[in-house]
Amino acid sequence: MEKSLQPGWLLYAFAGSFIGIFATLMVPSAGIATFAPTPLTSLRDIAVPEPDPATWADNIRDLLRAAETVTVQQGDTLTDVLAKNGVDRTTAFNVVEAVREVYNLKRLQVGQELRLAYDALAGNGTSTPLTEVNFDVDAAHSVTVSRQGDGTFTAKEILAETHKEFARSSGVIASTLFESAQEQGLPLDVLTSMVKLFSYDVDFQRDIQKGDSFEVMYEHTVTDDGKPVRNLDIRYASMTLSGSPLKFYAFKQDDGSYEFYNDKGEGIRKALLRTPVNGAILTSGFGMRRHPILGYSLVHKGVDFGVPAGTPIMAAGDGVIEKREVNGGYGNYIRVRHASGYSTAYAHMSRFAPDAAVGKRVRQGEVIGYVGSTGRATGPHLHFEVLVNMKQVSPMSVKFPSAQKLEGASLNRFRQAKNDTDNMFTSLGNAKSLSNASDTSPR
Ligand SMILES: [Zn+2]
Repeated sequence: MEKSLQPGWLLYAFAGSFIGIFATLMVPSAGIATFAPTPLTSLRDIAVPEPDPATWADNIRDLLRAAETVTVQQGDTLTDVLAKNGVDRTTAFNVVEAVREVYNLKRLQVGQELRLAYDALAGNGTSTPLTEVNFDVDAAHSVTVSRQGDGTFTAKEILAETHKEFARSSGVIASTLFESAQEQGLPLDVLTSMVKLFSYDVDFQRDIQKGDSFEVMYEHTVTDDGKPVRNLDIRYASMTLSGSPLKFYAFKQDDGSYEFYNDKGEGIRKALLRTPVNGAILTSGFGMRRHPILGYSLVHKGVDFGVPAGTPIMAAGDGVIEKREVNGGYGNYIRVRHASGYSTAYAHMSRFAPDAAVGKRVRQGEVIGYVGSTGRATGPHLHFEVLVNMKQVSPMSVKFPSAQKLEGASLNRFRQAKNDTDNMFTSLGNAKSLSNASDTSPR
């Protein structure tokens, strides 16, 4: 059933570059997995699918990094910051030399944010070219270093009054989401954020059909004479797949940050992680299979993630450890009880986390044990089960409950904000692109 990897060149380059650069430097965040047969490799992949049952990567949120914001840490020079983010020495040197022309780098502050942009579609499989470094000196004064056609970098100061505006984009998917977004002038970094946003709910390999559509509204800074300077956060995004719309609204929290909710006020962060180990490859799915040791077919009641022995296993969600035992073929086994009738089970552990005792309350992402091959296992892997009312379901297809549901006064405030957002969206014209958005974006 598995189809071999056949992404085009660019797709491979795109994923390869990010994996190459970041895999050794970053601990991926919880719930990120790289499933084997057809990992999502590029925005270009988001297409009307060929019939292909393979499961896509959950980790597109990490893979699709066309632009990122990094923060200057204590003791970092600009060279350090670039090196930490996988920029090669020569490029880093050239960037620093260019910045020096317009800005005294000694004034770089701890906590200052730098925005790095890469040519996400021009990687060569091991690296993705850095195209731009941009940082604010103050609200109306920023420095932008850009790669020129000949590969050198040139820095310029932007000394303009700027303000924030909303921009929108919408389109119908004829072939690929990427193409439609490009036709509508949706900037790549905004598209990337949008895909990340939907990646909890949309299987981008299988779910996109011809005639599906998207809408997005985001903030960007523009100079007072209307030139877009930078794309900021998405405030609203919607995808209509096979006629059913999925809408996400950014809603301001008490601490001033924004979280996304669907139109019913349910948070998009999920109560359970689908993949409770980092760097996992799905080696065996849920359902009937021939058992590699016992030799006959039986129903596989979980999924197996191939990861090296000793890899930390995280609790997939908040809950209470209800079993911690040596459990026959399961070997070292932990089961966690979550809210709403959900449980998760973890088998073949090499060892338990020292404090992972029965009755212990755990938080999502908390380490409860380590990957091993105890019990009936051919090699180190995590056997992971999701149970609904104590019956195993496929962790890859079960619809997980939302982590947070707004209620009462917050729900009322959300509804008001949602109406405001809808009205704002309706009142905006489609922005064409960053370079000419000033022609269409309202003031
Ligand atoms: Zn298994």
